[in-house]
Order: sequence, then structure tokens, then C-alpha cells
Amino acid sequence: MMTTMLSPEIVTVPSLVDRCDSCIAAGKAEIVLTTGGTLVFCGHHANKNAGKLNPVAARITVGDGFEWAMQSPPA
Ligand SMILES: [Zn+2]
Repeated sequence: MMTTMLSPEIVTVPSLVDRCDSCIAAGKAEIVLTTGGTLVFCGHHANKNAGKLNPVAARITVGDGFEWAMQSPPA
């Protein structure tokens, strides 16, 4: 049964082509917002903003090897 709050679908790909929206680092996470927009962040910025992004994300595409902070439920 689906009990918890809406959580985004997480898709893993070998690598992302876009760069971080906040710096020049290679993108590690592409976040498709429920509003339709798309954001790309490097590992640093993705996890820095993870708490804010997760509730508004419809789908998150992560580069292989990147650990999205919200991917695992809190211990
Ligand atoms: Zn960045």
C-alpha cells in the first residue's frame, strides 16, 4: 500500500550531458519538477538542495555512481 508522501521516481543513467545550474561542474542529477521545469545539479548542489527538491520533484535522473541524498529512507 502506498502510504508515504509523494516521492519522485528515480532513474539511473550512465552519465548526464548537462552541467550544474549553480556551478560549472558536470551534472549528476536532473530533476524534473512537478510543475514541468527541469533542473540539473552537480552532486554537491543536488544534495545540498535535496530536502527542498525532493518534495517538488516528479522524476530524478541520477548519473551512475551518484548517491542522491533522498534515495534511501532515513535510518
Ligand atoms: Zn553545482
